[in-house]
Amino acid sequence: MRYISTRGNAASRSFKEILLEGLAPDGGLYMPESYPELRKFRLWGQGYVDVALSVLNSFAPDISWDDLQTIVRRTYTKEAFGDERITPVEMLEPNLGLLRLSNGPTLAFKDVPLQLLGALMEHVLRERNEELNILGATSGDTGSAAAYAVRGKRGLRLFMLSPYGRMSRFQQRQMYTLDEPNIFNLVANGTFDDCQAVVKEVNADAEFKKKYKLGAVNSINWARIAAQVVYYAYAFLHVARTAYDHVTFAVPSGNFGNALSAHIARQMGLPIDIIVCTNENDVLDEFFRTGAYRVRASADVRITSSPSMDIASASNFERFMFDYVDRDAQALTRLWAELKEKGQFSVRENDPGYVVDISSGKATEAEVLATIHHVYEKYDVIIDPHTAVAMKVALERRDKDVPMIVAETAQPAKFGDTIREALGFEPPVPKGYERLADLPEHTTRIDPDAETVKQFIAAHVQ
Ligand SMILES: *Cc1c(COP(=O)(O)O)cnc(C)c1O
Repeated sequence: MRYISTRGNAASRSFKEILLEGLAPDGGLYMPESYPELRKFRLWGQGYVDVALSVLNSFAPDISWDDLQTIVRRTYTKEAFGDERITPVEMLEPNLGLLRLSNGPTLAFKDVPLQLLGALMEHVLRERNEELNILGATSGDTGSAAAYAVRGKRGLRLFMLSPYGRMSRFQQRQMYTLDEPNIFNLVANGTFDDCQAVVKEVNADAEFKKKYKLGAVNSINWARIAAQVVYYAYAFLHVARTAYDHVTFAVPSGNFGNALSAHIARQMGLPIDIIVCTNENDVLDEFFRTGAYRVRASADVRITSSPSMDIASASNFERFMFDYVDRDAQALTRLWAELKEKGQFSVRENDPGYVVDISSGKATEAEVLATIHHVYEKYDVIIDPHTAVAMKVALERRDKDVPMIVAETAQPAKFGDTIREALGFEPPVPKGYERLADLPEHTTRIDPDAETVKQFIAAHVQ
C-alpha cells in the first residue's frame, strides 16, 4: 500500500513515512493509491480489536502484524473506552440508533483516532530512535484528546496553547489537571486566533522547527482517518443482518474527517449511505445540496453550541473531491487553484453529469435545543449538541426499512450550559470524572507571543 498526493506532484510514500507528516510536499493530501476490499477480511462476528487489526493492516502493511497487534490491543481496551465494544451501537427504537463514539478518556470521538495515533507515533519514533515535539493550539476537544493520546508516551512531548478562560469549564479541567512530565499547557492571555497565529509563526522558523523537531497532530493526518474507518465497519456488522442490507449513518461534521472515513468505508465495499450534517456553519451542506464549495471568511464563522463544527472550510474535503473527480490530480489541482483565487468553485456548473452519492442536512441553534429536548422526552437519553445536529437531520430523513444510525461524537457532560438550556438541568457527571473539580491545575500563563513560546520549548527540550 502506497500513498499518493491529491495534487499528483509528490513521490508516493508508505504509511509509516506519512505518519508524522502533514501536507504532501506539493501542498496536497495523501490518499491510499487504491482501496482494500473489506469483504476479503471475513469480519462477521469479530470484535472491535480484530476488525481494527484487519482494516489497519490493509492501510499500514509496513507495520508488522505482531507490532500492530500489540499497539491495537493496548489502545482499544475496556479500561480506556469504558466498554469492550469500544464503539457500541445503542438502538433507541427499531431502525434508529446511536453509534457511541465518545466513551474514550476525554469523552469525545477524537479519542478513537488519537489514542491510536499516539501509540503509532511512539512506535515509529522508537524504531527511528527519534523524538517529536508536538506544538498545537486548541479551543476545545482537540487539545485534551491530543494530551490524553500523548500522555505517558516515550519520545513525544506536547506543547498545547489554549486561550485563557474561553473553553468550557469541563474542557479546561480535563486538560489543565493533567500532571505529566511530557505535557505542557500554555495558557495564553488572548483568543484562539492569537494562539493559532503563534503556532504558525513558530513553525515558520524552519531552523527552530528542525532543531526542536516540531510536529503536529492535525485533522488531516491519514492515520486518524484510517482509524475511523474501523467503527463504520464494526457498526455495520452489528446493525445489518446480512451483507446485503443497507445502513445509513448521519455524521455531525466540521473538518470532514469523520464523514470522509465513512466515504472510505463505502469505497471499500461497505453498503452504507452517508448524511453529512452541519450546524449553521453549513459549508459542507451547501456543497452537497448545490455543488458549490464556498469557503467562508473567518469573521463569518458563527459561534454555536457545537463549537467543534464551527469551521470556515473543511480541511479533509480535498480528499473526497479527489475521488469525486475520479482521482484526476490535474482536475483537482485546477479546482483548488480556483478556490484559492475566488474563494469558491462549483462542480455542478462545470459538470452537468454531477452526481454525489452523499446527502446532507443542517440544524439551526433552535433546532439543536429542540432536538435535545425531544430525544430526552421520547427516549430518556441525553445527547450533546454536536450529536443533536445529526439527530435532527436523521429524524427528518428516516426510511422505515433502513436502519438510521447517528454518530454520537461527544458526551453531554462536556456541554453543561447547552443541556441546561434545553432541559432545565445539568447533565450528570460521568463515572470517574467526579474528582476532576478537586484536582490541581498544571499550566503556564503566557503572552501569545512566538518568542515566549520558543523560549519555553527550548527550556523544556533537552
Ligand atoms: C471534531 C468534532 C466533530 C467534527 O468532526 P470532523 O471530523 O471535523 O468533521 C464533531 N463533533 C465533535 C464533538 C468533535 O469533537
